[in-house]
Formats: sequence, C-alpha cells, structure tokens
Amino acid sequence: MSSQTDEGLAASESEIAQSVSFGRGPSGTGGANRGVGAGPRARPSRTGSVLCGGGRHGDLPLQYAAWRKRTTPLSLRLVEGPVSRLPADIHLHSKLCGHATGELEEYIQRAVELDLAAIGFSFHLPVTIPFPQKVNVTREELDTLVRDVARLRDAYQGTIPVLFGGEADYLPGAEDQVAALAADYPFDHLIGSVHFIGDWAFDHPATVARYADWDRRRLYETYFRLLCDAMRTGLFDIVGHIDLIKKFGHRLEGDWSDLVAEVCAVARQRDLCVEINTAGFDKPVGEQYASEAILRACFAAGVPIAFGSDAHAPREVGRHFPRAVALARAVGYDHTARFRARERTLHPL
Ligand SMILES: [Zn+2]
Ligand SMILES: [Zn+2]
Repeated sequence: MSSQTDEGLAASESEIAQSVSFGRGPSGTGGANRGVGAGPRARPSRTGSVLCGGGRHGDLPLQYAAWRKRTTPLSLRLVEGPVSRLPADIHLHSKLCGHATGELEEYIQRAVELDLAAIGFSFHLPVTIPFPQKVNVTREELDTLVRDVARLRDAYQGTIPVLFGGEADYLPGAEDQVAALAADYPFDHLIGSVHFIGDWAFDHPATVARYADWDRRRLYETYFRLLCDAMRTGLFDIVGHIDLIKKFGHRLEGDWSDLVAEVCAVARQRDLCVEINTAGFDKPVGEQYASEAILRACFAAGVPIAFGSDAHAPREVGRHFPRAVALARAVGYDHTARFRARERTLHPL
C-alpha cells in the first residue's frame, strides 16, 4: 500500500524506533466505514500498575492486551529504528484560511528548523458555517492546495514528510458536506472540530460576552454533546482541541469527570485520536487542549494522541511542543499518531 511505502521511506530516514500500525480495513473508505477497535499502541515493558503480568501479553498494558484479545485479525506492524525527535505537527493552517498568514513552504521550513518528525496541514474545509468572515477555504482553493502540497511533498521528500489534511467544522446537518469533501480529496487526515454552538462562534474573541448567558455546567454539557455527536459521525480521524470551550478561561469547577469519561469512551469506541493542541498555551486559559485530566482519562481508555500547534503563522509551527511532549510522557504516553491516506501509524514519543 502506498501509504505504508511512504511511511516506510519516512521511517528509514530517522525516526521510527517502534511504530505500530493498526489496520483499518480497505483503503479509500475514508472515515465513514472505519471499523472500531484500532487500539492503543504496544509499549515496552516498564514498571507500573497498567502492566499485566506474565503470559502472552505479559509486557503489554492491560487495555492493549484486552483490546488485542477482542480484536482479531490484527494487522500489526513494528518498525525498528532510532528514537524520535519532536513529534509531527498535524494541525497547521494557511493564508487561504482567511485569518492565517504565510506561505506553505514557510511552515515547512519552520518544521525542518525544529526537526519535527512530520508536518501536516489541516486546512479549514469549505463547510457552511454561521459566520460572516472568511475562515474556510473554498473548493477552488482546496484544488490549488492539493497540488501545492503534493509539489512540496515531493520537494521535501527525504527531509520531512508533508501531509495534506483538513479541519472540518462539525455542525449538525452539515455532515454530508464533510462526507463529500472526504470523498473528493486525497486527505491524509481529517480533524473534527466544534467551533459553533448553534450560531455562536464561541471561540471567537468578539463573542465572549455570550458566555454570560450560560449556566457553566449546561454550557459544558452542550459543548461535549456536540463533540460526541461529531465523533459518532465516523467522518473524522482526530478530535480537534477537545476542550476548546475553556479557551477564554471559562472553566467548569467541581467534578465533571462524568463528561470527561463519556467523551473518552466515545473516542475509544469510534477509534479516534485526540489532539494535544498547543495553541491553548497562548490563549487566556493558558494551557493546552486537552487538559491533563482529560489526557489521563484518554490514556486510561486507550485513546491515542497526536500533536497540533494550530499554527496560523509559520512562527507558530511546533509551538510549545517540548512542554506538551513532557506532559504526554508524564501522563504515560510513549507514542504519537499521524496519518497517511487516513491510515494511522503510531510513532515513538
Ligand atoms: Zn479549530
Ligand atoms: Zn485549527
């Protein structure tokens, strides 16, 4: 399969010590027909409570061992090689997204400077949104971007893998638009993001006053319900900025682990990867999306992670990645995901 060839080429360059690829059915089916069950990654033995002792799965985390038991046949690929540098940044925009700046190649050059393992554009896809400003690319622009990214992928072959992805708004009723885009374009990955509650672009600074209209618990319930609905569509590979609702510092106090547990369970069930989005460090909330509590719940549930800077300018590529990697490792993760032709591979962290 071409994706494996490309990943193999990338791997031989420098970074994959132990990459685990979970088969996801026939290629070309996009996200819609994906089977459940691609589980967390194999990890080397280490002391800790998550390891089960002895037997065939003696060195594997309990979650992983349980998943292996449930899921057969299993397509499992291990690639030996040196340990990784900084992980792939799979969430970058471009000036065609309307509110971003810089040429595509400038983003790539910044990623090379930082020695990122790969770079993945995630253009704001042309989905109809209740927002007056241009933030999404048009189909015509996407046609151009496909060609531009392909050209740059060739130009940087052997230097850094360059991936073509999209970030799609989830809006109830707009699922068909996303499905059509997924069918029409050769995406490496699709990020599903909730930016709207009804007609409220809750992550836009101009609309912050509307937070005052909401009971905080009901706001979080409403947001996470939309997010779970997005995950259940089967259209996406990655959940974007999973707790974006906290962006301006409107945190939910007290115990809301029930909401976290549900989100993680749905991500696991629908075989989604959760993004550690480092843009949050630069927002009023002052921390990454997802919160450490959500990351811990994701890890316990066996949900893989990917890293995204949500860069809207070349200088933002890979921002705060060392900090985010340290957090992910502290939580227990030792692999990070990326996608090629919507096939997921896991790479050492
Ligand atoms: Zn977003
Ligand atoms: Zn974004």
